[in-house]
Amino acid sequence: MMICAATNNGGKLKELRRILAAMGHEVKSLRELGITLDPEETGETFAENARLKALAFCAAAGLPTVADDSGLCVDALNGAPGVFSARYCGHHGDDAANNRKLLAEMRDVPAENRAARFVSAVCFALPGDAPRTLTVLGECPGSIAFDETGDNGFGYDPLFVPDRVGLPDGTTVPNAARRSYAELADGEKDAISHRGRALEKLAAELPAFLNDSM
Ligand code: IMP
Repeated sequence: MMICAATNNGGKLKELRRILAAMGHEVKSLRELGITLDPEETGETFAENARLKALAFCAAAGLPTVADDSGLCVDALNGAPGVFSARYCGHHGDDAANNRKLLAEMRDVPAENRAARFVSAVCFALPGDAPRTLTVLGECPGSIAFDETGDNGFGYDPLFVPDRVGLPDGTTVPNAARRSYAELADGEKDAISHRGRALEKLAAELPAFLNDSM
């Protein structure tokens, strides 16, 4: 199916494209569709924000649309930065400043209290007079490192150490070497990542959703 990948974030687009393409879909970016919308994320949850983005971009694209709202929830910070992950430092989309602030906030937190999880809400929207949506959630448990490592990926990747990593056959193993998201190959991250898990759920639930929409 041709799907609009509704994100202005280059790192997310790369992941949405490669995971949805691996599922057999043809992915169109906002740039390819000539859409320059930037809807305000006024929701209080990842699911609310994913839905409002999916509906806004779906109306603009006139195509089945996938939007992701995601972020990092750190136990020692009572779940922050959470839905504010993209603007944790005070302005939007400055990964380096966000990572600096996170490291500073976590400076005195000992290793055993650095648990965190990435969460992704993915919303699929079908265009029409009464657009319908399907929202799924994916999570990846891990912890916050003391330093940045690795240069793959985007956002908080250099600071997040997932508990498990993926193998080429799709199975997962404990992350014994404690490599950060940014040190993982694409497939190693997609098999265990919050976004990979959410999109797996979407793939499982989509046939019934589409059937109900006929
Ligand atoms: P939003 O969903 O566009 O509001 O922003 C999500 C923010 O969460 C991004 O800007 C990143 O800072 C962070 N984030 C989400 N997913 C990832 C990921 O896979 N790696 C690193 N950072 C992420």
